[in-house]
Amino acid sequence: MSRDARLYPLRQPHINPHDDAVWNWAQNAQIGSRHQVRRPASEADLQQLLRQTQDQVRVIGSKLSPGRMLHVSENDLLLDLSALSGVLTSDENSVTFGGSTPLHRVYSILTSMGRMLGSSPGVIAVQTLAGAMTTGTHGQGLQQSSLADEALRIRMVLADGSLREFVRGENDFAAAQVTLGALGIVTAVTLHTEPFRIFTCHKYAVSADTLEQDLLHWNESYPLSKAWWFVDDNVMHVWNAHQASESDRQRYEQQGRQVLLHAETGDDSLNDTIDQTLAHMHRDTQIQGKGGKQFRTVTRFRDFTDVTGDIYQLFCRGIAVPQINVEIGVPLANTPAIIRKIKSWYAQNRPHMHYPIILRCTGASSAWLSPAYEHPTCFLALWFITPMTAHCHRMACIF
Ligand SMILES: Cc1cc2nc3c(=O)[nH]c(=O)nc-3n(C[C@H](O)[C@H](O)[C@H](O)COP(=O)(O)OP(=O)(O)OC[C@H]3O[C@@H](n4cnc5c(N)ncnc54)[C@H](O)[C@@H]3O)c2cc1C
Repeated sequence: MSRDARLYPLRQPHINPHDDAVWNWAQNAQIGSRHQVRRPASEADLQQLLRQTQDQVRVIGSKLSPGRMLHVSENDLLLDLSALSGVLTSDENSVTFGGSTPLHRVYSILTSMGRMLGSSPGVIAVQTLAGAMTTGTHGQGLQQSSLADEALRIRMVLADGSLREFVRGENDFAAAQVTLGALGIVTAVTLHTEPFRIFTCHKYAVSADTLEQDLLHWNESYPLSKAWWFVDDNVMHVWNAHQASESDRQRYEQQGRQVLLHAETGDDSLNDTIDQTLAHMHRDTQIQGKGGKQFRTVTRFRDFTDVTGDIYQLFCRGIAVPQINVEIGVPLANTPAIIRKIKSWYAQNRPHMHYPIILRCTGASSAWLSPAYEHPTCFLALWFITPMTAHCHRMACIF
């Protein structure tokens, strides 16, 4: 397979810790050099730095986005804002976090307070709050939208070093929610919180014959829904979740808030599809042996059972290895027609798909730059895993 090295740069398998280079998370793009990095100790330090510098300034969060998104050149300053992290204030219905707080800390702090966010999480939680918000990071479910839609106040240091607090309800708040880092540097975010709830997730394997209608039905019937489309096998794996019953909630609490499995023996109806997918992945990646981290996400679909747990335990499961990820957001209303087109393209071309298409729908976002701006949206994620390339980016920002 021929690859455009600019679009699909190779992963650097071994990075020398003493090297001057700063790499993105996937280790396939150099973001800059260590001597360019500044780490202001406080918001006031950051203001001072911006007043003094004549150079361009780029902010790095957890560096998950592709390196070229930052467009760093040699004279730019790279800002590491890890000092601006943690809880700043809280009240009954909101918590203010430093912009660089990792999402897993946001989630665990809220859980310890008996609170949660209205937005459902994405698959990982290593992003910084500001980095995830500025790119429109989202999970699944029509009754909610992106993380940025949970913001009540967004505090930024602007290019001239001045401070600006954007408050929900103001005319330009929607510009500050998703900015791709271009409007200012986010130092603090006040998030709306809701009472902590427990969910039960039902898992199925069904035919994709009626996916056009089923996808809408699942999303209208359940507050949280996520589906994997194994196109080669015409099979869907579906997770539909709703708030847990009181008895399931009690059982979950009694076992120390560990995820509750609803059956001792899992449902094996997806196992043949998993075996076939793994065989394709082994062949395509030329990675031998079944234990490779590359295959973990698919392997865990074997012998599935319904589960009860908190929203982060159920949906924020992590990703074992860097992968090429293209996610495309389309208006929900157009999704059945798009699914029909994918089916007919597949029938005509018989392309080889070694990974399922992931379908997650969200409600409308109020953020001007969100792909879900003003309309419910279906995100189709196409993933590719190879031993040599490692690249993950968000086409959704572009659509
Ligand atoms: C394995 C993987 C899984 C993912 N899963 C999902 C998912 O399920 N759902 C989803 O929607 N997305 C997902 N993403 C996308 C991910 O959420 C975004 O790439 C996010 O931007 C990463 O946050 P970060 O802290 O690494 O930001 P970075 O990648 O470091 O930065 C992203 C952008 O934010 C800007 N920025 C960072 N901090 C600040 C700040 N303080 N102020 C202003 N601008 C700032 C940067 O300049 C840059 O433009 C995934 C990505 C990967 C690699």
